[in-house]
Amino acid sequence: MGDCIFCRIASGEMKTPLLLENDSVAAFSDINPQAPVHVLVVPKEHVETTNELSGKPELVQKLFLACLQVAEQTGLAEDGYRIVANCGAKAGQSVYHVHFHLLGGRPMSWPPG
Ligand code: AMP
Repeated sequence: MGDCIFCRIASGEMKTPLLLENDSVAAFSDINPQAPVHVLVVPKEHVETTNELSGKPELVQKLFLACLQVAEQTGLAEDGYRIVANCGAKAGQSVYHVHFHLLGGRPMSWPPG
């Protein structure tokens, strides 16, 4: 997907510092952070929404484990954090390349708006 911004970041084509990278997953800071720590965890392969992850259990596992690893790395694990995946228009998904938001470093209310 040549025009997908997260494909370009995850492949290294776009020079964005990565907090984590392995064969399948990359993590980088959100450009418009909603918390002191706001990291996006994305697959290297282009998958549009979480709906398409249903046939990819190994990738789901890798994505989730990467979230936990970044939570440890960034010091969020002990105090707490939130993992969010917006799927589709009603959830407010704006980039159609699957990503998990890892947010922490401030108190958060529930439910979200
Ligand atoms: P969502 O609304 O769930 O699709 O989230 C997309 C997120 O991607 C938003 O929080 C944006 O701030 C973030 N974002 C968009 N472009 C970039 C970029 N080039 N680098 C980092 N984060 C980005």
